[in-house]
Amino acid sequence: MREDEVVKSPLRRAFFKTRFNPARIVNLCFIVVLICSTVLTWREVRVMEGAWVASQRNALNNVANVVDRQLQVSVDRLLFFRNGMQEALRTPLGLAVLHSVQGEFEDDRAQPYWRIIRDTRRTLPLYGVSDALVSATPGLNRDIPLLHNELAAALELGYLFRLSESSAVVPRRAAYVSRAGFYMSTVAAQSSEEIIHRYNRMLARPWFTSQSERQNRARGVRWFSESVNGDALVTASVPLDYQRYWYGVLTMSFAVDTLYERLVETRQQDDSGEYQLYDAHFALLTRSTPPGVESQTFTPEQKASLQRAIRNSAAGGLRMGTRYINWEKLRHFDGALVRIQTLREGIRGDFGSISIALGILWLLFTTMLLVSWAVIRRMVSNMLSLQKTLQWQAWFDPLTRLLNRGALFERASLLTAEYGARKEPFSVIQLDLDHFKSINDRFGHQAGDRVLGHAAGLISKSIRAQDVAGRVGGEEFCILLPGATLAEAEQVAEKMRQRIAGKEILVRKGKSLRISASLGVSCSDESGSYAFDYLQSVADGRLYTAKRRGRNQVCSDDTSSMPNS
Ligand code: GH3
Ligand code: MG
Ligand code: MG
Repeated sequence: MREDEVVKSPLRRAFFKTRFNPARIVNLCFIVVLICSTVLTWREVRVMEGAWVASQRNALNNVANVVDRQLQVSVDRLLFFRNGMQEALRTPLGLAVLHSVQGEFEDDRAQPYWRIIRDTRRTLPLYGVSDALVSATPGLNRDIPLLHNELAAALELGYLFRLSESSAVVPRRAAYVSRAGFYMSTVAAQSSEEIIHRYNRMLARPWFTSQSERQNRARGVRWFSESVNGDALVTASVPLDYQRYWYGVLTMSFAVDTLYERLVETRQQDDSGEYQLYDAHFALLTRSTPPGVESQTFTPEQKASLQRAIRNSAAGGLRMGTRYINWEKLRHFDGALVRIQTLREGIRGDFGSISIALGILWLLFTTMLLVSWAVIRRMVSNMLSLQKTLQWQAWFDPLTRLLNRGALFERASLLTAEYGARKEPFSVIQLDLDHFKSINDRFGHQAGDRVLGHAAGLISKSIRAQDVAGRVGGEEFCILLPGATLAEAEQVAEKMRQRIAGKEILVRKGKSLRISASLGVSCSDESGSYAFDYLQSVADGRLYTAKRRGRNQVCSDDTSSMPNS
């Protein structure tokens, strides 16, 4: 039996059988630890990300609330003015000044344009156009029963406008535009001709046109953004109705600059994000970066997707490349406040540095894990190969690479028991090299070793797959032939003898020699005994018979007659 065959044999398998593969277990453990550490780190990062998104939302929410509150003050004021005018339409104050205004109006109403001025420190002038222009303009009407009351209400509004000039949030412009051909504005008309022109212009403004009963069924406040003489304004307007009749429109405009100031003021010191205020058409009204400083911009596609997102939900956030954008629609303004945080700003913040630290920790841990995995793997594989070497050494003879004496005996007792139980033949061959001592003597011990190795190789080549060969002494070998009858074993032995005798062995440079062997064969069939000691001793006896008969021969019987020659 050769070494490679032994590996496949049940003997070897039984010997090297391991319940588990240590290398595989080491791999498995490290993979589990790696997966666990990665999952934990990932979870931690996700939690952090959630907290970061919440902090972004909070920051935006704070600013949005303040901007909203400011806008709410304007809305409240506008509604208060409207209530005041409705009250005045119902019961105007019985002041002489109001009567005189009504009288002056009756005198002037046919003029192409007119202006009624009363105490300019306390109220505002009324500007108007002619009856003819009113009746020629669609949508206007001066033939209304409460026309005088409306004039008085407008003048009363002038008092309120004047009063509100001292408030904290001063509108850039406040006005009441009537459908009865007059208006009142905090911005004085520069020239008489401008009166008609301005009136017509105001009638065409969206904040007026969209306040008809049809276009604003809810009759609530509406916001617009516009640019007047290069001045960016946000304008709020509300229709004035009384007894189901639409009288006109109240409006207030604020400079976008004041919104900018409010944005900058409200922003927390440590808030690095940029705020941008957009109107209903997603036109940028103002942003928190100072003028002249480069601000965040969007490509048309990004703009479109952001607009879509804002349309779909009142507040939210989305990632755009390396930027995180969150938005919140304002309650008192038809638009949205958008906050943009770049990756660099995010990294500079607390969450960013903690995430980086976490990433570095994970990387360090993983590196250490991989290094220790490599070391342990190397140790385990060294240990395994050492274990294999030791096991091999315990079972095999290093010179001939055949089973050693102990291993052969162990194997023999297993096999004889097995074949004895099955009552199948079991043969044994004992082989001894002839005159081996003289090879040592003539060519040296090393040459003797080489001859031994060659002889073992020839023995291995001559046996059948199921046979087992072992070295049982110095130049003595024993071959187990399970299942072989005496005749079959004799054939194997003869083949072996011929192979050994026919081989020219190179013992040193330029020197080769031939050797021979004597073999004794025994079989369980002869005596019915399966005791290996017995079978071996019979084979050994026949081996010596062969020696006595002149060597280089096989002996398989006990007739001890000497050859004639
Ligand atoms: P015979 O034909 O009667 O068997 O003669 P022999 O010389 O082969 O027998 P003997 O028992 O007298 O000699 C065996 C020799 O084998 C003795 C020893 O020096 C040699 N020998 C035993 N083991 C080894 C070994 O491992 N290597 C080498 N080189 N020689 C060995
Ligand atoms: Mg010998
Ligand atoms: Mg011997």
